[in-house]
Amino acid sequence: MTKPIATVSRTRDIMTQHQLDFKKSLGQNFIIDANILKKIVDRAEADENTIAIEIGPGIGALTEQLALVVKHVYAFEIDQRLIHVLDDTLKNYDNVTIFNQDILEADLQAFIKENVKEGQSVKVVANLPYYITTPILMKLLMDRLPIESMTVMMQREVADRMAAGPNTKEYGSLSIAVQYYTQSKVMMTVPKTCFMPQPNVDSAILQLKRREEPIVKVHDENLFFELVRTSFGQRRKTIKNNLQRGFKDRLSKEELQRLFGEADIDPARRGESLSIEEFASLANTCYTMLE
Ligand code: SAM
Repeated sequence: MTKPIATVSRTRDIMTQHQLDFKKSLGQNFIIDANILKKIVDRAEADENTIAIEIGPGIGALTEQLALVVKHVYAFEIDQRLIHVLDDTLKNYDNVTIFNQDILEADLQAFIKENVKEGQSVKVVANLPYYITTPILMKLLMDRLPIESMTVMMQREVADRMAAGPNTKEYGSLSIAVQYYTQSKVMMTVPKTCFMPQPNVDSAILQLKRREEPIVKVHDENLFFELVRTSFGQRRKTIKNNLQRGFKDRLSKEELQRLFGEADIDPARRGESLSIEEFASLANTCYTMLE
C-alpha cells in the first residue's frame, strides 16, 4: 500500500521529482502528519454526503484524506506549478476536482449552485495560507454562502482572536465579525513539527458553524461594523474617546452623550468589555440618531 502523501518521505520525493521549492510568499507549509489530517476530517464530520471545498491543496495531503471519506472534493489552488503535481498525486481518486484559481477571485455562489445537489452538505476544510486567512474567511462569511461549516487550520493567534470573548486581550473587531455570522471554537492546536517547512508560528484548527441568522439584529451592518472597529481603534482608550474621534463629522459631543444614555452603556468603558449585543444596541441607537 502506498504511504499517505502527508509523510516526510513522500513530501520530499514529490518535491524532488517535480523539482519544486516551497513558495513562502504563498504560505506553502505542507502537512507531513497524516494523523493530524485524519483528525481534521473527523472533526469536520465529513462523510459520504459531504461536498468538501478545500482552499490550497498544495501537493494533495489533505485532499487525499478528504477524498477517502467525502462524496467529492473541489480544491482551489493558486499555484499553477502544483496543478500537474496534483494530477499525479491524486490520480487514484475520481472524486477530486482541482481548479487553478485564486480563492479570493472565485465565484463560489455560482459554483455551489452548479455543483451541489439538494440534500448534500457543503463543508470547507482547509489548511489555509496564513498570509490571507482573514480575507478568505471574511469572503466566505460575507458572501453568505450555503456552507454548513468551516474547519480550518490557521495561525494559532488568529484562531484565538476569532474565537475570543469580551474582557480578553484577544477580543476585538475580528472576533465580533466572525461570531456575528458563526459559532466558532478552537478544536485543537497543532505543533510546528507537523509541517514542512516548519512555520515560525504555532497553528490551531478552528471550526466555524454558520448561524441560521446573525447573532444580533442590526439595522445597518456597515454602521455596526464601523462602530465596532472604531471602538477598538485605540484599545486603551474609552469607547467615548474612540467614538468621539471616529464619528466627529456625524455626531456632536451632546449627541454622543445621548447615544450612550439611550443605549444604556457607560461611556467610560473600553471596547473590549462590550458584548456583541451591547455593540448592536449602540449601533441601532446610533442608526436612529443619524436617520
Ligand atoms: N493543503 C496543503 C497541506 O495541508 O499540506 C497545503 C496547505 S498550504 C498551508 C496553503 C496552500 O494554499 C498552498 O498550496 C498555496 O499555494 C495555496 N494558496 C495560497 N494562496 C492561495 C489563494 N489565494 N487561493 C488558493 N490557494 C492559495
